[in-house]
Parts: sequence; C-alpha cells; structure tokens
Amino acid sequence: MAAGLFNPVTGKRLTKAWEADKVFPYLFQFYAEAEESLGQKFFYPQPIYQPFVSIAEQNDWMARSESRELKKFVERIFTESVYGDQTYDDFGGILINHTGYLNTNLFMQGLRLVLEKENAYQPHYFDISLLKIRNDKVNYKNYEGTNIIFCEGLGSLKNPLFGWVPIIPLKGETLSISIKEKPKAIFNRGVYLVPSGREREEEYLAGATYQPNDHTEGISTTAKAELEEKISALIKIPFKTNFQNWGIRPSTRDRRPVLGAHPLYKNVIAFNGLGTKGVSLAPYFSDLLADWLCHEAEIPSEINIARFKALYS
Ligand SMILES: Cc1cc2nc3c(=O)[nH]c(=O)nc-3n(C[C@H](O)[C@H](O)[C@H](O)COP(=O)(O)OP(=O)(O)OC[C@H]3O[C@@H](n4cnc5c(N)ncnc54)[C@H](O)[C@@H]3O)c2cc1C
Repeated sequence: MAAGLFNPVTGKRLTKAWEADKVFPYLFQFYAEAEESLGQKFFYPQPIYQPFVSIAEQNDWMARSESRELKKFVERIFTESVYGDQTYDDFGGILINHTGYLNTNLFMQGLRLVLEKENAYQPHYFDISLLKIRNDKVNYKNYEGTNIIFCEGLGSLKNPLFGWVPIIPLKGETLSISIKEKPKAIFNRGVYLVPSGREREEEYLAGATYQPNDHTEGISTTAKAELEEKISALIKIPFKTNFQNWGIRPSTRDRRPVLGAHPLYKNVIAFNGLGTKGVSLAPYFSDLLADWLCHEAEIPSEINIARFKALYS
C-alpha cells in the first residue's frame, strides 16, 4: 500500500536522511537495473517541490542549502512562486533532487514472477512451529537451507524467535484521489501526491498519516479529514477522494533497520525495522546483509540486532 516515495531530505526541519549519501546512489542503480532485468517500468525519479510557507523559511533554506550536507540534494531554491497555478507557493519553494517514487505493486509483482519461475516462492503462511534449526542447516517442510532470513515486518512480534526485538507498529493511511490536472512536480508539504500507477491517469495517492497511538485496524474518518485538509492546503486543483487505505509500518525507536542473527542461532537472521522508508533502505541494506552472509562485510552496530540483545531472555 506504500506510495513508494523516496526522498533524501525529510523530517519537520528538512534534514538530510540518515545514510542518504550511501543509500540514495545505491537505490538509483538498483531500481534501474531491476527495471531492465524485469523488463518493466516501475521506477520514476522525479524532483519533489516543497513550497515555503514564510519568508523566514525561505531565508533559512537559502542559508542551509549551501551547506555541504545538503547541497547535492537541492536542485534549486525559488524565492518567487513557480507553480502558483497549482500550489500555494507565494514565498517560492525548494526543488529537491535524488527523489521520486517506485510503483511498489508493479515492482513486487515483477519480482514474484521471477521467483515463481525459479520455484522459489510460496504464497503461504509460514508456520514457525515447523521450523527445524540445526547448527549449519535449517529445515522447513521439505525445504532445506543454510540460513533463514525473516523479513516479516510486524509479524516479528508474534515470532517466538524474534518477539523480543522492539518493532514498533506505526499506522498510516492514504487517500486515492482524482485530480483534474496533472501536477507539474511531486508536491509535498505535510502530505505528498504521487501517481497511483493505476489505469486512470488522473488518479494520485496522497499520504500518509502517522498514527503512532492508533492500534486499530482499518481506515478512519479522522485520517481522511486530516489528509483532505492537508491536500486542500497544498494544491489549488480540485480533487475528489475515491478510496482510502491503511497499513502499519514496522518501525523502531531509533529509526534504524534491524539486521543480524538471533543471539543463539547464527543461521536464523532478521531483516526488519524499515519503518517509513522501505523503498530507499531495502536495496542498500539487503545488499549489506548479503555481503555479511558471505563474510564480506560487518553489520554496523547502529543497525545490528545486537543493540537490543539486553531485551533477549
Ligand atoms: C500508509 C503507508 C505509506 C507508506 N509510504 C511509503 C513510501 O511512500 N515510501 C517508503 O519508502 N515506504 C513507505 N511506507 C513504508 C513501507 O511500506 C515499509 O517500510 C515496508 O513495507 C517494510 O517492508 P518489509 O518487507 O520489511 O515489511 P512489510 O511490508 O510489513 O512486509 C512483511 C510481510 O511479511 C508477511 N508475514 C509476516 N509474518 C508472516 C508469516 N508467518 N507467514 C507469511 N508471511 C508473513 C506479512 O504479511 C507482510 O507481507 C509506507 C507504509 C505505510 C503503512
């Protein structure tokens, strides 16, 4: 259900995302290669435009955009309105690069087809009680492997092997809306709009909410109202809400992924904690995990599952 946005300049104060210098160049190469090998288009690099709401914010950005940290991610700063026919940008705005979106559904469908052809995909519930762990092998039903990697998001909380890892559910909701006119950039201010990738060209996904204290399943009228209000404050183009969706992100308190082996079983591995940024973090960190499995890399302590080992009993 993720809109698939990737953006190296995030947060309320718009700061450079953690490890952006490594993660973003990697994802550009990864998804471009994935498109080529899967023979499908699902990766859309495109600048994100964030309108300023005040002169103070404009000034702040004029100063900050020159910093070495941010310079390469700032395409351009506008001190006057550029997309004023479509968005509220009287004070100009910032055009951020190394950004865009991934059509996550198409990407995952493409991958699944490849795995199915290789007889490496089973769309079934994984019943952990059937897993047999030995020193150098793992067995599940009639499968045998050297290692098992759990990429199970929130499922980890119910996994007797990894239930101690503090994955924090972070609910989010999105709206699917129809817009009469195609936005000239990805507009983003409290809410973003990206093409939904469905047949209808004028359909956009708007999202997403952050509902850390909401543990209910399903959509809510509060989230719909919040998103519609934010969309109205972002774009001048009339829109119509068609559909609402929800999901839960597997996040962590320190907002870092969780990679590494179970404290007792070196061949039972977790890959989790991608939180709000699966699209940008997954390629780089799955490559790191693969290198680690081949003894070609270490897992840095800040993302290593070992940082939680005091919670294991
Ligand atoms: C509303 C919303 C909007 C988002 N927008 C973006 C965005 O724009 N950009 C971005 O980068 N990220 C976005 N995200 C976050 C992104 O979806 C996550 O980072 C990503 O899905 C994490 O991937 P994952 O594979 O680790 O976990 P998940 O996507 O949670 O996948 C885990 C999977 O494991 C399966 N599973 C668990 N246990 C079992 C079992 N026992 N047997 C079989 N299957 C099992 C689950 O069913 C699930 O399919 C958004 C999330 C939400 C909720």
